[in-house]
Amino acid sequence: MLYAVNASIDVPLQIGAMTDTSSGRSAFNSPPVNLREVSEHTYVLSSFFNRIPTHIEYRQVYIDKPNLTREMIELTMFYHPDNTGYALSRKYWDGKMRYFLFGCEHKWKSTNIGRCLSRDTCTECGYTTVIDSSD
Ligand SMILES: [Zn+2]
Repeated sequence: MLYAVNASIDVPLQIGAMTDTSSGRSAFNSPPVNLREVSEHTYVLSSFFNRIPTHIEYRQVYIDKPNLTREMIELTMFYHPDNTGYALSRKYWDGKMRYFLFGCEHKWKSTNIGRCLSRDTCTECGYTTVIDSSD
């Protein structure tokens, strides 16, 4: 299930590109690219709470475990237009939450393009943003 949060934002839908289907499973059972579990502390300190996602999606995905087994988890994923996202997973019967990040781990290269104006480009995914630091 996929929901557009703010349909007035003209953001290209990159969800298909952000799905790792290398296992041959359906997109619904495949994790997003570069899914990584983080601690609750890391999640709390992330920008999850002050960014507005463009899309929200629910999936049941298989993830590999270190002992070469896999487990299926529920993911509610929050997509952002910069090729990144956040995901929450509940352990229903334990009453617990798990926290995930996915997508690019940006490595920024900044270029000064004017007074107090810089263009930051990720050297990994190419995402570009312009920052006006005069305010
Ligand atoms: Zn990037």
